[in-house]
Amino acid sequence: MARKQAKQEEVDVVDWLRGLPKAELHLHLEGTILPETLVELSRRHDAIPLTMDAARELYKYEDFIGFLMSFKAVTERLRGPDDYELITYNMVRELAAQGVLHAEVYISFGIIYYWKKTEVEPYVEAIERGRIRGEKEFGTTVLWIIDAVRHFGVEEAARVFRKAAELRATYPSIVGIGIGGDEARGGANLFRELYAEARAAGLRLTAHAGESVGPESIWSAINIGAERVGHALSAQQDRELMDVLAEKQIPLEINVTSNVKTGCCTGVDQHPVKLYFESGLMVTINSDDPPMFGSDLLGEYVMVHDRFEFSLEQMRELAANSVEASFLPPDRKLALLQRVEQYGW
Ligand SMILES: [Zn+2]
Repeated sequence: MARKQAKQEEVDVVDWLRGLPKAELHLHLEGTILPETLVELSRRHDAIPLTMDAARELYKYEDFIGFLMSFKAVTERLRGPDDYELITYNMVRELAAQGVLHAEVYISFGIIYYWKKTEVEPYVEAIERGRIRGEKEFGTTVLWIIDAVRHFGVEEAARVFRKAAELRATYPSIVGIGIGGDEARGGANLFRELYAEARAAGLRLTAHAGESVGPESIWSAINIGAERVGHALSAQQDRELMDVLAEKQIPLEINVTSNVKTGCCTGVDQHPVKLYFESGLMVTINSDDPPMFGSDLLGEYVMVHDRFEFSLEQMRELAANSVEASFLPPDRKLALLQRVEQYGW
């Protein structure tokens, strides 16, 4: 193949990784707000709007509690539906600039139900406006995964998932559901029946698992039918689990910088991403809450290439995995996979 004989060693790695067609599979809408967007939201809502410097300060924290406080300080400036339209549109623009052709993004109905004490419909409508406008302008497609907070309990998750199933009829871009939150306070097995119900309603199943607790959480997630696992950091502690993940090719939504910044992983060099890849697990690279972690998807691709010595061909494989593991229909998947394969030097 002639293109591969072209000068791979002469490529600018960052430019090449930016142009590499890829999908983002683990990203939280509320976690995509850039400081610039926060200033814009603050102008809408605060009597004395934040300066750019003050906005940037809000993204600095020392530990996990600090991170949660930061996240809250940023997201509490999301008030009305229009704010959601703005952050959605800006998110699509930022993704497109990193060479992301498709993204599957978590929306937390919990934040809307609990913090705003209101119905989700006007917010979903606004989010969809932002998505459609962004897709038209920048070409990056987005599907939504509605996630529930584990420690809010089964009843609340039922409310979230049933609303997702109901809204799917109007908004086919709602493709799946997931659970996040505190794994120690809500084992996935509690949600078994709800997962079965969601699957019967045509929704795809994901779960955050093995981020802050041990491998039993990942076993639980796959046992209730999760088709993709978010983080899966603790799988490395369980050889048998690693074998099952490899054999079944269950896609893992890996978030290296997130795991380090939240303290779930002690350092980049301790992260198992390369071990997983070399053990034949289905690894995808993702960014989680990028501005909160001082990263983005392109930054993650550059960092793992650098720190873990993935070759550029292996980076192409990671990008292909992200498309393969997406919930896109087969024809679109195939078209995107061809673009990944044909991407030259
Ligand atoms: Zn996450």
